[in-house]
Amino acid sequence: MAELEGLEFGKSDFVLLDEVTMEQFMENLKLRFEKGRIYTYIGEVVVSVNPYRQMDIYGKDTIDAYRGRELYENPPHLYAVSDAAYKAMKRRAKDTCIVISGESGAGKTEASKYIMQYIAAITNPSQRAEVESVKNVLLKSNCVLEAFGNAKTNRNDNSSRFGKYMDINFNFNGDPTGGHINNYLLEKSRVVQQQDGERNFHSFYQVLTSNNDRSSHKAVMNALGVIGFSEEEISSIYQILASILLLGNIQFESDGENVQVLGQEAVKHISELTSTDPDSVTKSLLFRTVATGGGEVIEKGHSEQDACFGRDAFAKALYERLFGWIVSRINSIIEVKDYNPVLHGKNTVIGVLDIYGFEIFDNNSFEQFCINYCNEKLQQLFIELILQQEQGEYQREGITWQHIDYFNNQIIVDLVEQPHKGIISILDEACLSVGKVTDTVCLDSMDTKLSQHPHYTSRKVSSFPSCWTDTIVLLLLNYFLSSPFRYSVEGFLDKNKDLLFQDFKRLMYNSSNPVLKEMWPDGQLSITEVTKRPLTAATLFKNSIVALVDKLACKEPYYVRCIKPNEMKSPVLLDDARCQHQVAYLGLLENVMVRRAGFAYRQPYARFLQRYKMTCEYTWPNHLMGSDREAVEAIVTQHGFQDDVAYGHTKLFVRTPRSLFSLEQERAAL
Ligand code: ATP
Ligand code: MG
Repeated sequence: MAELEGLEFGKSDFVLLDEVTMEQFMENLKLRFEKGRIYTYIGEVVVSVNPYRQMDIYGKDTIDAYRGRELYENPPHLYAVSDAAYKAMKRRAKDTCIVISGESGAGKTEASKYIMQYIAAITNPSQRAEVESVKNVLLKSNCVLEAFGNAKTNRNDNSSRFGKYMDINFNFNGDPTGGHINNYLLEKSRVVQQQDGERNFHSFYQVLTSNNDRSSHKAVMNALGVIGFSEEEISSIYQILASILLLGNIQFESDGENVQVLGQEAVKHISELTSTDPDSVTKSLLFRTVATGGGEVIEKGHSEQDACFGRDAFAKALYERLFGWIVSRINSIIEVKDYNPVLHGKNTVIGVLDIYGFEIFDNNSFEQFCINYCNEKLQQLFIELILQQEQGEYQREGITWQHIDYFNNQIIVDLVEQPHKGIISILDEACLSVGKVTDTVCLDSMDTKLSQHPHYTSRKVSSFPSCWTDTIVLLLLNYFLSSPFRYSVEGFLDKNKDLLFQDFKRLMYNSSNPVLKEMWPDGQLSITEVTKRPLTAATLFKNSIVALVDKLACKEPYYVRCIKPNEMKSPVLLDDARCQHQVAYLGLLENVMVRRAGFAYRQPYARFLQRYKMTCEYTWPNHLMGSDREAVEAIVTQHGFQDDVAYGHTKLFVRTPRSLFSLEQERAAL
């Protein structure tokens, strides 16, 4: 609960709304945005609106104002939750995490950077060199990951095209000792194809040092050096980038029988850059090795179409492996070494999650399906943990807990991930079956197995406009949104199979560049050893998200919910319809209701007394009561709202905000 600022700035906590309606929520959000108050609480959750302008609220003075203070002592800010997470970690030895969510352009990555900068600023007061170096590497890793994982899209000039979860480790002093980064589902299709008006990953332009990207290139090179990449590693990174660009110059020509590579110059350069033999490069582009039923190994020439498919899959895989390797290289440098829990005490962690929010486009494909599934799971965890936290606080304070009804979206999560019956299973089955299974056949199979499910429907099961050809419609989140999410199944199977011919993997494994070789360990397998049933893209993603949720669930969570105010990147416009949509699918009203279900407001006795003592004759000018709690009881009784409160062991709980406002008014009138 934030300090109650003057009401001209709106209510600093949504739980203080008179009524929990979309109208009142929006009115408060808008008023605060207009007054330059971009942060508002829901209890301990920070709702943040992207200001699209530089705000003077992140400097040293602000950091000092929030350092070591309680949430309610200052106006809402990212720094307050960062400090709360840090304090919980340091004082109570709790692992904590800060989960940042919101749609593209809502300000997640900026928020994650402010959080990291705050933590860096308040730690290591004695300036120990080894801690400073860890902090430096952690901060610099952002610059490198953004260069390779971000791109300009129509929604955001610096859009993260991957999900990121970063653990920061702390020693018993509360100083950072290292960290670990997990990355999720890099949008590798961007390497070969971008929508109109969008760009490829920043790194490609930096390697070409086009004007705008030149200074970023310098910054990335510097960051790579500071983190500890060797010169050989750095030049390998840029050689791989150049090879991917050159792959884009390769075309194929067919005379009806044989397929030829057009672009021998490019082949030659690629072989030089990847330290491989030019004939082997050509061969991998034109042939694939296959094992026949009888165990014989033969080379099969590609059709022109297969060759194009192979080239693109290769370019995408090169980039994905490069990105994965950069992350694991950073991890090997920042991992906590020589930590002895007996000597050093518990090694505690703060995790920061910056991951893509719900994506709802006109045309949603496999990627949106994965991303939205991930959000369903995070939403599920959010509601569970918020409820748990509330329940925990009531128990600690000795107050009776009342059951709260809420929408449990486990049913949607199950629809996607259940073994044998879920959408991912059906998709995998189709991918692994022999013979020609098309996207439409796979959709038929989903219809057969899922048509009775209340959250599933497709064009064939229900009547939809005829222009929606072959679409699955999952009624995801229909609790929050009036319209369902619609996905086109076209391309689902190919994207899920994510096929890359073994010949490319072998080519890279045989490179004489050790850095490149290290990225392709599976290239050493011969075609007969290659597992027949590799895990599919959806299953790999599901496994990584299940692991992420497990990781988050055992930490004390703090939440930042980001809202994008408009599509124009305008600092003055708050588009009502767009914001309502986000408030709805982020479940923010529901969050307010859960928080208010019992008591809207709670405050430690001493704090409450400090603020309102002047409104009561027993506490002002002299404190005539025994304990703080008795003094608070006197204030409450004198103002006649004793039926609206409960007394916890250390805090006063107030059911409705109205009681509090009458007190505020009286205080202001004095
Ligand atoms: P994506 O999902 O596409 O990665 P995102 O939620 O990470 O989006 P950001 O990249 O953090 O969005 O923010 C988009 C842009 O909005 C930033 O580049 C910056 O210009 C502006 N912005 C966001 N937050 C702030 C802030 N607190 N102060 C000033 N500008 C901001
Ligand atoms: Mg981002």
